[in-house]
Amino acid sequence: MPERNIHRQERISKLKESEEVELGLYEQLLNLTSETKRDGSLAELVEIEFKKRFKQDGRPKEYYYLTDLCNPAQTYWREKKPDVDRSVEVANKLAKGNRLQRIAFAWMRKIPDYVCEETHLFGEYQGIERVSGKYDMRLGDSIIEFKTKPESVPDEETVFEKYPQDLEQLIFYAALSPREAKTHYLVFQLDHQPYGLFVFRAEIRDLGMIRNILRQRVDNLDKALQNSDPAKLGMCRYYEPGCDFEKAKVCNCSTLEKLSVKSIRRAISLTIDEEKKVELESFMLKEGKSSGELLHPWNLLVPRRHFLNNLQGTVSDDDRDDSKESSMEALRKAVYRAKKLKPDASELAEARAKCLDLPIMKTWRWIAIHGTWTGEKRKRVVPALLRVNQSSKPSLGLNDIYKAQLNIARIVSRTAQGVVIVAYPNAGDKIQAYTLSSEPSDLRGGERLLRDSISLLNKALGDSEIGLLDLCPPYLRMKCSSCPDYCVGLAQTESRA
Ligand code: SF4
Repeated sequence: MPERNIHRQERISKLKESEEVELGLYEQLLNLTSETKRDGSLAELVEIEFKKRFKQDGRPKEYYYLTDLCNPAQTYWREKKPDVDRSVEVANKLAKGNRLQRIAFAWMRKIPDYVCEETHLFGEYQGIERVSGKYDMRLGDSIIEFKTKPESVPDEETVFEKYPQDLEQLIFYAALSPREAKTHYLVFQLDHQPYGLFVFRAEIRDLGMIRNILRQRVDNLDKALQNSDPAKLGMCRYYEPGCDFEKAKVCNCSTLEKLSVKSIRRAISLTIDEEKKVELESFMLKEGKSSGELLHPWNLLVPRRHFLNNLQGTVSDDDRDDSKESSMEALRKAVYRAKKLKPDASELAEARAKCLDLPIMKTWRWIAIHGTWTGEKRKRVVPALLRVNQSSKPSLGLNDIYKAQLNIARIVSRTAQGVVIVAYPNAGDKIQAYTLSSEPSDLRGGERLLRDSISLLNKALGDSEIGLLDLCPPYLRMKCSSCPDYCVGLAQTESRA
C-alpha cells in the first residue's frame, strides 16, 4: 500500500489532538509546483460572448430556420422587436433542456441504429425555398426529435394541444428529407427525477400536405413581415406557458386564435410507441450506469461525501441550481463561440489521444491558447475548467478548489498548461481567466497520486470503511460540526441499517 495510505486510520486521532494532518489528495494537488497568471486576453474574448447571452437568436437574412416556422408569431416579434431580451426564466429552461439533451445524446449514440445527429437539411432540394433545419438525430431511417418537459406527456391529444410546435418540427424535418421515410419519433423526457421517457411514433400519411403547410408558413411570414401585420400568424405557441414578448407587452397575441393543427392531424397518424420507449429506456439505464462508473474529479477531492452518497444511494441531480445552470450553459456557449480559442480538429484529436487511461470524467473543455512560453509550439491546446461564481464581487485570486480540479485535468490530459475561466453573472457578467503552468516534470508524480486515490476509494467502498479516505478540504469541514466523527458515525449507522 502506498506510503500516504498507511496512516489514514490515524488521521482521526491526529485531527482531534492537533491540526497536523497528513496531506490528502486535495492538499497534494495544491502543492504541485505551478505558476498562476491572470489571462486578460482569454477573459475578454469570453466576456464579449458571455454578455450576449440574453439576446434572442436571430435568423439569417433571406432564410428561415425550420424552427422559425413552428412558431411564426415569435419569429415575427423577434424580428420586429430585437431589443426584447430573453428572460432569465426562459434562459434557465433552455439551459436545463440543453444539458439533458447532451446527456441523452451520449446514450442514444450507443444505439446500434444510430446514424448521425445535429444534421442540416435544406428545403431547396424538395422544392421548399429558403428553409433549412437541423434535426436532432437519426436512428435507421427515422428522424428523432428530443424534447424535455416539466410534466408527463400522457397521450397523443396532449401533444396536439400543448406541444404542436414539437410535433411540427419533427414532421417538417421529414418533409425536408430527401429520404422520404414514413416513420419518425418524438421523444419527450421528464426534466426531473425519474427522467422518464414518453415516445410517440409519427407515421407520415401525406408528405405533400406537410410540404404545402411549410410553404404556406413561409408565405405568411414573408407577408406579415413586409406589411407589419402578424394577424395570420396566430397566437404564439408559448403564450400560455410564458413568452418574453407577451411579458414585455409588445405583441398582440391575446387577440389572435391558436394556429390550427387540423391539417397536421390529417397528414400524419400519431401513436404512443411503448415498445420503442422500453427499448430507449433500457439503453438509457445501461449507459447511465456505465458512465456512473467514471469518477467525477469532485469525488476524488471529497471522497467521504462520495462514500456517503454511495451508501445512501443519493442522487444529487435535483440539487442543481437552475440559475447557475443557465449561466454555466451560457459560459460553455461563450467559450465555444470565441472563435480564437477554438482548436482545430487535428489538434483536438491529438489532445484527446494523449490523455491517461484513468476512470475519471473529463469535465473540462479543450481550448487553444497562446502564451510566452518558449520552445516548440506557441499555440497549445489545453484543458479549461469553466466555473460560475454567484458572488457579487469577483474574487481576488484563483480559488483553491478550482486549482485542485484543474490540476487533476492537467495530470489526466498530460498537459503542462491549463486554464480556469470563471463567470460572475451577479457582478456585471465579469469573466476572470487564470492560466496555470508547470514544467512537464512537475506533473510526473500526479498519475501515481490519482491512481492511489482511485484504488483507495474503491477499497473504502468495498470494505465499507470510510476512515480510509481523505477528509474533506478544510473549508468543507466547517459544514459538518463534528468532523470527522459525523461522517464516520453516519457511515456506521447506514451500514448497520
Ligand atoms: S465529517 Fe468531515 S470528513 Fe466527514 S463529510 Fe463532514 S467534513 Fe467531510
